[in-house]
Amino acid sequence: MPDLLLGATAGSGASIFATVTTDLVAEVQRRHDLSPTVTAAVGRLVTGAVLFGASLALRERISLRISGDGPIGTLAADAWLLDDRTVGARGYARNGRAELPIDARGKFDVAGAIGDGLLQVTKSFEVGQPYVGVVPLHSREIAEDLAAYLAKSEQVPSVVALGVLANPKGVVAAGGVLAQVLPGAGESAIADLEKRARAMPAVTKLIAEREDARHLLHQLSGDVELRSQREMDVRFACLCTKQKVEAVLRGLGRSELESMNRERDETEAICEFCGRRYVFTRDEIEALITSV
Ligand SMILES: [Zn+2]
Repeated sequence: MPDLLLGATAGSGASIFATVTTDLVAEVQRRHDLSPTVTAAVGRLVTGAVLFGASLALRERISLRISGDGPIGTLAADAWLLDDRTVGARGYARNGRAELPIDARGKFDVAGAIGDGLLQVTKSFEVGQPYVGVVPLHSREIAEDLAAYLAKSEQVPSVVALGVLANPKGVVAAGGVLAQVLPGAGESAIADLEKRARAMPAVTKLIAEREDARHLLHQLSGDVELRSQREMDVRFACLCTKQKVEAVLRGLGRSELESMNRERDETEAICEFCGRRYVFTRDEIEALITSV
């Protein structure tokens, strides 16, 4: 079952989105060798980024960043459009091997692994300043924190559910749903959505049973008619290039680059989002030093 993102308008009351991200989360897990608990945390965040990315235009980007005082440290995820029918996404965690015991409910202790901290949401546009919103973490389970961000910072009452089913062998199922009440919808619209979301089986259970994104969408919309349906592929991607890594190296300054060149024949930089290695020879570093 390929990863997909679906969006639709449900009646006159809500925009709803559903995604299956099993392959995407498996790719993030594999590239960073994440522990099961960190896989759950990063997988939820990157799935949230995909859902937030549903309303992006080309050359816009959504970045979600959680900075907590728990063992994971910082985790981050980005989503953007690769073309008009494909969403690209990536994610990483500062301490990818952090692990905590399963909690009392038999679930990954994502909240404990994240700790107290902040959620930062950045929307970057093709031109102009990015929009940045920051809210304190509340539940630290990610889905509720993203819903709280949308309600507080963007004044859009929303329901978010995210799930990752992982074990030491890998990712079994991942996905999520997002519903946003449309302006002018009645007071009962958000209560109805919350009721349907609560009545839904866990998204990971549905995906593990081979249900697709369309099924998730219908679970959330109930018997309300869906209009303007949109379907997009979802896949892992990265935005790193050698030029961007060069810019970071230049930012280290002349003396740091000179001392790097004295100490080693080659300088290696690894993209924290995709794990790609960039190797610079002494001559290349020399050229950077002259251009600082
Ligand atoms: Zn990269």
